[in-house]
Amino acid sequence: MSAKILDGKATAAEMRSEMKQEIEQLKRDHKLIPGLAVVLVGENPASVSYVTGKRKACAEVGIFSREENHPATLAEDKLLALIDELNHDPKIHGILVQLPLPKHIDEKKVLYAIDPKKDVDGFHPFNVGEMMIGEDTFLPCTPHGILQILTRNGIETASRHVVIVGRSNIVGKPLAMMLMQKSKTANATVTVCHTGTKDIAYHTRQADIVVAAAGRPNTVTADMVRDGVVVVDVGVNRVEDATRKSGYRLVGDVDFEAISQKASAITPVPGGVGPMTITMLLYNTIKSAKKTITQK
Ligand code: NAP
Repeated sequence: MSAKILDGKATAAEMRSEMKQEIEQLKRDHKLIPGLAVVLVGENPASVSYVTGKRKACAEVGIFSREENHPATLAEDKLLALIDELNHDPKIHGILVQLPLPKHIDEKKVLYAIDPKKDVDGFHPFNVGEMMIGEDTFLPCTPHGILQILTRNGIETASRHVVIVGRSNIVGKPLAMMLMQKSKTANATVTVCHTGTKDIAYHTRQADIVVAAAGRPNTVTADMVRDGVVVVDVGVNRVEDATRKSGYRLVGDVDFEAISQKASAITPVPGGVGPMTITMLLYNTIKSAKKTITQK
């Protein structure tokens, strides 16, 4: 068997084109332009590149983006004052603080200061709680992107067994929570594995869908999955590669080559979950802007 490649770039492009049209309509009918503030403190190269990607994605669909770039020495109280200002800015519907923050700043304090109504990352405990009880709230972008890539490629989760490897607060845990909701697009039976799991292969071999989010290459190998499985690879890992100019290449958490021979569908790295994550951030910003119409 040769697996169908679940193309995150193509799915993201399809969603962004729908969003572009929706924003044109919001501008026309409500004079409303969704706005996202992206706050970057310091010059971590990976963070700079993520922020650039977010700015470009906003421009692509017609979202107004306000960039707040500050030196790594920015005081915590100054950052909190900025968050407060953004919380009250009517042009801003979403606030994203790029992590990690410099060590002298309490990350939790900053994230909790964001108005839950503008928390487009879905990290505020208020929104996490709402997600858990199945309210219509901002869903965290990576797990939401995973659900979208599955459903938009015709892969159902209802009544299927999903095994997730990884239990972080941004991927594994929220994905498990979202998949177990009693709804048409979820309704899965979910198992979550982590470093405390005795025999991960025992669980992954029983899965209809495996999601690997451990941050370690080859966490899931071909002998750990059954024929016809669907595999979602969330991991992004740098491995040395002397044939590349950069000296490295990006790989996921699964043995892509071998598993593609066994699986019915698989997401590549890069080009799988990654493009979906930014797309869901745009989705949440538009959702937040639309909520202001009903509040007027
Ligand atoms: P994280 O916070 O480091 O969490 C990793 C999780 O995997 C932890 O729960 C850990 O278990 C578990 N784990 C690690 N090694 C394991 C092993 N050998 N066996 C079983 N479980 C293991 O990472 P994260 O933020 O969730 O990210 C995971 C990966 O996804 C990273 O490569 C990250 O770069 C990538 N990522 C990609 C996107 C995207 O948009 N493409 C977005 C977010 C993250 P314990 O809890 O027991 O320590």
